[in-house]
Amino acid sequence: MKIKFSGAAREVTGSKHLIYTEHGKTILLDCGMYQGKGLETDAMNRKLGFNPASIDYLILSHAHIDHSGLIPYIVKNGFNGTVYCTPATRDLCSIMLADSGNIQENDVKNFNKKREIQGLPPIEPIYTAADAAQAMELFVSIPYNKVFKIDEKVSVKFTDAGHILGSAAINLTITESHTIHKLCFTGDIGRPHNRILKSPQAFSQAEIIITESTYGDRLHEGMKDSEEKLLEVVKYTCVEKRGKLIIPSFSVGRTQEIIYALDILKNKNLLPNVKIYVDSPLSTNATNIMRLHPECFNQDMLNYLQTDPDPFGFNNLFYIQTKEDSKKLNKITEPCVIISASGMMEAGRVKHHLANSISNAKNTILVVGYCAPTTLGARIVRGDKTVSIYGKEYLVKADIRLLESFSAHGDYKEMMNYLSCQDKNKLIKLFLVHGEYEVQQHYKSTLETNGFSRIAIPEFGEEFSF
Ligand SMILES: [Zn+2]
Repeated sequence: MKIKFSGAAREVTGSKHLIYTEHGKTILLDCGMYQGKGLETDAMNRKLGFNPASIDYLILSHAHIDHSGLIPYIVKNGFNGTVYCTPATRDLCSIMLADSGNIQENDVKNFNKKREIQGLPPIEPIYTAADAAQAMELFVSIPYNKVFKIDEKVSVKFTDAGHILGSAAINLTITESHTIHKLCFTGDIGRPHNRILKSPQAFSQAEIIITESTYGDRLHEGMKDSEEKLLEVVKYTCVEKRGKLIIPSFSVGRTQEIIYALDILKNKNLLPNVKIYVDSPLSTNATNIMRLHPECFNQDMLNYLQTDPDPFGFNNLFYIQTKEDSKKLNKITEPCVIISASGMMEAGRVKHHLANSISNAKNTILVVGYCAPTTLGARIVRGDKTVSIYGKEYLVKADIRLLESFSAHGDYKEMMNYLSCQDKNKLIKLFLVHGEYEVQQHYKSTLETNGFSRIAIPEFGEEFSF
């Protein structure tokens, strides 16, 4: 068996790991898109480094675009195998890949206008919303904790990773002539006390682990403080400063957690009387899909549902659908909260809210998630005095606040705790992926201090034989 790392190698996006088995099958774990590097990203996404037609099975850890976003692209380019994932991941992909297709189409439209001026021929979008719909035909969902035989030599079991709705660690058993390989790809690992989802679940002993390392050098705040801190920022911005609070947020996961936290505060009569807008059609759709998957909810959430049947809805909370209604929010002068995607502020409606609000000291931008180093979000977080949005420079005068405890990723202690279900001596190899290289080196030495060994930080394209 060989493993080849074809994405999220010494970086955070583009998750793709290939397994070549002795019986001649090629398994792809995740097919994620690279995000956040402008034009460079487009080229990276188009050059896969493997032939999509040669892939037999694609096994998907979760629906985030940096893990699933190139599925329609490989289908368009010859992949005709099966995509295995959990039922909630399948449902989320049906809206997220279509949304991504729409984004590709719009981006290319704008890009081609510039190319036309330069006398250059137009380029095609990576894929369209129609390609995304086509790709959904290949999906097969398998519930958590069921062993599923993919073929006579390969079986898979999904265990809950507690990262977003439907997220799973992929546990593979691959039978070869002289041995049986047990491999676990953790995908992204959630926090042990998510507001809504079950905690990451212990998984059976593996000999090879491929695991994420996003926050390999950081510890998060406790979750309890985060509600208070969120409330403090709402009061400071909307009551004291009489301004707008902009919360850029991933449509799937983070947004629902924030809405739920606000719902809890509302039920406790702590929330000031301000309007709250969720301005992202994808967030609205993802919230509706979340309602359909109580099998992913933790006991606290199930208990909460007994007293409040709609944890994602309350008076003063408005889901915005149309572009026209979204633009109307720019004209609002009264204090309000706007939750909008994307979380890293590279795409989506949040960009026009930032352009409209960032140069006014009355407003606050509340960053609630990870921003990859080259993104607009990262530039805002590091304190740039001016930022470029839609090609125009804006002075940053709004307050910039961070609230990391809403992170969907575990910190290094939480990730290590997740791995503690394993007998370290039985591990042949532990691969760190999905992290910035410096962070990964830090995490590697922390893991070594805690008894893990044989750890590798693979480079893009690197291969390992077992
Ligand atoms: Zn993720």
